[in-house]
Amino acid sequence: MRVFDKGRGVGGRMANRRADGMQFDQGAQFMQAHGDVFATRLADWERRGIVGPWAGAGRRVGIPDMAAPVRDLLSDLSVASGMAITWISRDGACWRLADGAGGEHGPFAAVAITFPAPQIAALLAASGFALAGVERATYAPCWSLMLAVERAPPEMLIEPNEGPIGLIASDSSKPGRPEGGRLTVHAKPDWSRAHLEVPREAIVSVLSKAAEAWLGSPLPIGYVQAHRWRFAQVETALEKPCLYDPDLRLGAAGDWCLGPRIEAAHDSGLALADAILADLGGAA
Ligand SMILES: Cc1cc2nc3c(=O)[nH]c(=O)nc-3n(C[C@H](O)[C@H](O)[C@H](O)COP(=O)(O)OP(=O)(O)OC[C@H]3O[C@@H](n4cnc5c(N)ncnc54)[C@H](O)[C@@H]3O)c2cc1C
Repeated sequence: MRVFDKGRGVGGRMANRRADGMQFDQGAQFMQAHGDVFATRLADWERRGIVGPWAGAGRRVGIPDMAAPVRDLLSDLSVASGMAITWISRDGACWRLADGAGGEHGPFAAVAITFPAPQIAALLAASGFALAGVERATYAPCWSLMLAVERAPPEMLIEPNEGPIGLIASDSSKPGRPEGGRLTVHAKPDWSRAHLEVPREAIVSVLSKAAEAWLGSPLPIGYVQAHRWRFAQVETALEKPCLYDPDLRLGAAGDWCLGPRIEAAHDSGLALADAILADLGGAA
């Protein structure tokens, strides 16, 4: 089995940003389990030190960063990072993939695509295939800010009920992180949508001032970086665990199947893996 990911590192929206000796969880901030399958997975990760408790209310984070659980799931697999798949094609009963740099990969017995839904729809359309339902999923965007400040605030997590900010998380308050004042700020979905094309400098200015207001003191900022997530949080989910076409041996999964959270991506991926393995006659 081979995994291809266009990101420089693995993790997708659970990815970690490292800069100037600092680290930030730039996307997802924590995990929670609503169902038994993910609860069992979290408990296993916690037992092995890959996940730990943070900020109460059943919230768990990866250790030393949110991508740690993804790295664990991929540890026995062959992963090609920094490789965008731009084309998939059938070759008899097999699949071949092409990347953006002219490389070809395969043959493979089956293909599972786990990009955000609009990117899956684009790849399928470009390649002349379809999986009915992918186009129904919709996402809200999110502007995210990573800030290094002189001192870490005492608050671990603030979820403001008004203004542009949806969340302020103190990265350094999470278990297994380096010391130092590091904050991640996420704008609310509607604010992010309304300001999607606004230049980064203006986003930094508005969101850092709003964060100062919530923290009640000026933030002497040593480092700041803004990141725009076009497909951040699922707004309309498919409400099916995954899509799989047994005739083509082509499937798709991701949070867009079940809802806006890590647990949904996990459970959807498992459902697709089960469907493919059952079809290929492999052991789950
Ligand atoms: C700002 C933000 C905050 C969030 N906060 C939380 C939170 O606190 N708790 C929570 O549970 N969830 C949170 N989420 C949602 C959570 O991150 C997602 O639900 C989950 O990570 C989705 O996983 P996924 O595998 O479905 O998709 P992704 O994580 O998006 O993974 C898709 C992967 O596909 C790759 N890819 C895309 N196109 C190609 C291509 N052409 N070729 C190869 N690879 C490709 C990408 O590089 C990426 O690695 C947050 C998301 C964001 C953006």
